[in-house]
Amino acid sequence: MTELSAYDRGDGTCMHLVDNRCSIYEERPEICRIDQMFEKVYSKHFSRDEFYLENLKVCKNLQISAGLPEEKQVKLTSLPK
Ligand code: SF4
Repeated sequence: MTELSAYDRGDGTCMHLVDNRCSIYEERPEICRIDQMFEKVYSKHFSRDEFYLENLKVCKNLQISAGLPEEKQVKLTSLPK
């Protein structure tokens, strides 16, 4: 969490995550904006779908680590359009 280390509340979780939602969503930093980061950095390395899928995989792994039930975990087959 290097780009977001200033946001760490001390246990690896972002201090702006409240009730499982971003409490500063409209003002969140660039690193949290998937489309901006894709255009700025990752489009050189991935297609948009590949980049979304890699983000979904990270998200799912975090959900598994947190013990989220399977039915509440992100589905890797549901790419945003
Ligand atoms: S999206 Fe919001 S809650 Fe998630 S890491 Fe970024 S600032 Fe924190």
